[in-house]
Amino acid sequence: MLVLQNTVLRKSPLTRGFSYPLAGIYYVGASCGERTALTFRTMFWSSHPLPARCIMLGMEIQEQVSLAQYTTFHIGGSARYLALAQDIQEVRECLSFAKEKNLGVLILGGGSNILVHDIGFGGLVIKIELSGIELQKNGNEVLFVAGAGASWDALVARAVQENLWGIENLSGIPGTVGAAPVQNIGAYGVELKDTLVWVEALDVETKEAKKFTNTECNFGYRTSVFKKNPGRYVVLRVALALDAHGTPNLAYRDLSEAFIGVQSPTLGQIRDAVLAIRSRKFPDLTQEGTAGSFFLNPIVSVEKATELATQFPTLPQFTAEGGVKISLAWLLDNALGLKGARVGGARLFERQPLVIVAQKNTSSRDITELAEKVQKEVKEKLRIEIEPEVKIL
Ligand SMILES: Cc1cc2nc3c(=O)[nH]c(=O)nc-3n(C[C@H](O)[C@H](O)[C@H](O)COP(=O)(O)OP(=O)(O)OC[C@H]3O[C@@H](n4cnc5c(N)ncnc54)[C@H](O)[C@@H]3O)c2cc1C
Repeated sequence: MLVLQNTVLRKSPLTRGFSYPLAGIYYVGASCGERTALTFRTMFWSSHPLPARCIMLGMEIQEQVSLAQYTTFHIGGSARYLALAQDIQEVRECLSFAKEKNLGVLILGGGSNILVHDIGFGGLVIKIELSGIELQKNGNEVLFVAGAGASWDALVARAVQENLWGIENLSGIPGTVGAAPVQNIGAYGVELKDTLVWVEALDVETKEAKKFTNTECNFGYRTSVFKKNPGRYVVLRVALALDAHGTPNLAYRDLSEAFIGVQSPTLGQIRDAVLAIRSRKFPDLTQEGTAGSFFLNPIVSVEKATELATQFPTLPQFTAEGGVKISLAWLLDNALGLKGARVGGARLFERQPLVIVAQKNTSSRDITELAEKVQKEVKEKLRIEIEPEVKIL
């Protein structure tokens, strides 16, 4: 498949009529023909900032593609290779390509939980684009099956439109369906694990697809079997069980306050309220870059939580698996006064200090330096270790 062949370059039909004269996608027989594609770039594109491309068994693999455009931080260097995979076979082909070339692999969804290094990524980025949302009705319960590349929020919008309960509190979370089980997304008192029935994932070692039940996903606070085994699985499809006769979950304070005096809010009202709350808490992604909460809320021992409660009586604390989850945003703001702290173009967001925001042209170095500064201060002053939620490349 990937043997370089000295075959004649044929211009791809994809580029017919393309106004940029020498830019294009070229077939090299059925193989990728990296050397030839590179030669082409050298010959014709060296003075143009366009990526070289090649086609592998009908699949396009681009070279030297800026990853900034693929992440919500809008930061970072280029991927050596990038492919858009639309089905399981294409994912398999990409993995073979990477194996043959001995390349590292990054699985990418919507790039809303990733910080790409300024020097980029020297391997193959596989952007997952398996699409489709399917409904299977079984009495009051409806199974929603969605492709990993579908937009998470489009799935929530569809559920609300179909009058189905269960994921409305997860409205407005950026990214794809496939990444949702990786970190067991959660917001406003609801986590993905509450409705998830199964995940279909490709095992990178065996190249076979496998279905994981909810229990097998081994979910925890922003974690799962997929996150605990980085690089081992590619999520392909996700199935959720939603309820035609559900009830609102307004346990979370911000949300209950939005419905004071309202008897039974509808699904649409809950979605709107969540979106309104989120628009106050997160920056406008069209203006500034972010990956949402940069750090995980720490889970501390009961003794540590008691010590903190004595020192900071209004610090929010929640029972969690393995200890007590404490609000890091509260500590950064009230105990350490770090809201608005900055390094270069990166700062802790004024309205929610767990969120790091980046102005245009900020370097990833600014963000990691700010994150390290915050981690150091929390450790030195509060004796708590904190970890990033965001995947840092
Ligand atoms: C403004 C903002 C608000 C946010 N609010 C929330 C929130 O309320 N709650 C919350 O939980 N998160 C939140 N996030 C974080 C983020 O949206 C979620 O983590 C989301 O699930 C990431 O999806 P993605 O497709 O963008 O993943 P990416 O950023 O592309 O990838 C994230 C991780 O998942 C892996 N991955 C992606 N797709 C797959 C796949 N198909 N198979 C295997 N691995 C895969 C990647 O390799 C990477 O390790 C927020 C982010 C932003 C920018």
